[in-house]
Amino acid sequence: MKSNIDQCIKCSICNVYCPVLQTTGLFPGPKLSGPDAERFRLQRKAIPSDWLAFCDYCKICEMVCPHNVPIPELHVRSRIAWGKKRRPSSREWLLGHSYLLERLGSWTAPFSNWLVGWAFFRWLLDRGLGIDRRTKIPFFRRQTFERWFRSRPFMSGKPIAYFYGCYTNYIDPALGRAVVEVLEKNGFRVTLPAQECCGLPLIGNGFFDLAARLGEKNLKSLRKSVDEGLEVVFSSPSCGMTLMQEYGYILHIPGSSVVAENLYEISQFLLRLYEEQRLNTNFKKINETYYYHVPCHLRALQVGLPALELLYLIPGLQIIELPEGCCGLAGTYGFKRDNYAVAREIGEEIFQAIRKLDARRVISDCEACRMQIAHQTGVKTFHTIQILRQAYGE
Ligand code: SF4
Ligand code: SF4
Repeated sequence: MKSNIDQCIKCSICNVYCPVLQTTGLFPGPKLSGPDAERFRLQRKAIPSDWLAFCDYCKICEMVCPHNVPIPELHVRSRIAWGKKRRPSSREWLLGHSYLLERLGSWTAPFSNWLVGWAFFRWLLDRGLGIDRRTKIPFFRRQTFERWFRSRPFMSGKPIAYFYGCYTNYIDPALGRAVVEVLEKNGFRVTLPAQECCGLPLIGNGFFDLAARLGEKNLKSLRKSVDEGLEVVFSSPSCGMTLMQEYGYILHIPGSSVVAENLYEISQFLLRLYEEQRLNTNFKKINETYYYHVPCHLRALQVGLPALELLYLIPGLQIIELPEGCCGLAGTYGFKRDNYAVAREIGEEIFQAIRKLDARRVISDCEACRMQIAHQTGVKTFHTIQILRQAYGE
């Protein structure tokens, strides 16, 4: 554990910044559900455990806490204990195993896309499983990123490993292609180590043992790349946060720190190249205005805002930062019928700013943020790397 609950000085700063507490009175806030409740839990005294289902795991409380009290970690530990006393619901199973659903959706596309768009099927999901019918289930791609990658000729260059994650593989292979092409523009040869789901949806829905098993496989494979002298990049801050933080702090997988030391968020990696004067800055002019939303899990990585610094290098490109805050979707959190309205309310300040500014194109590094922003406002959303790819010339 990173810090002791006794370091909590009751300042309530975490409560001020918690987006869920600002939205619903059903959640008592991070101070009470975290360090305060932990004292009761440690003495095996009963506390209302359904509080925990309201935390969207944005980690803002931990970032703002002056004493680094690991509140989200306390929540997860409590959920592990709580989970031992109850069977997960069908909804938790389905959302936790989203990597299997994405795989199935890709195999069976376009039928799967028709099915999830069918109003009756959505009604069934809503009534039967509690997955809100208003949620936007993304399109599954028949040609996965991995299949596209394997069909390419061998490229030369300095090898680098890429952890692409399930969303890129089954839903947004264009992002994976952009990552590969941007790295190739900088003299790298991308390799894909064997990989499983990072495990975050499993952690969020209470399947800790399976998350640990997938995590062990990922670490073994990434460790092999690291031992061969490769650096590893990822394009999803949520996957990266899980690999770098949750494998050690929550799942206690041995050896996670060695891999974490060699993992880089893709913009962080490219910015480092720039600082070392090794980045190919042969960017074409883009005379457009884009709006940028900072994902909570990127902040949790504590790497600054490398995407913004990279985007500023593109001539002609206007970047306007949207108001700080959580978009609300938080992986599978906003898919749940009881959370849908809370999730929308959490992100409302961002959605209102987008409408007021008449923004058409929003950049965000996290797939959940891109999904939620596109769903709630109708704008087109992009990953930073897709804009860099565009600046190199399609
Ligand atoms: S911000 Fe940290 S120190 Fe302050 S009340 Fe919350 S947990 Fe305690
Ligand atoms: S992780 Fe986010 S939602 Fe959960 S208690 Fe902390 S600030 Fe609130």
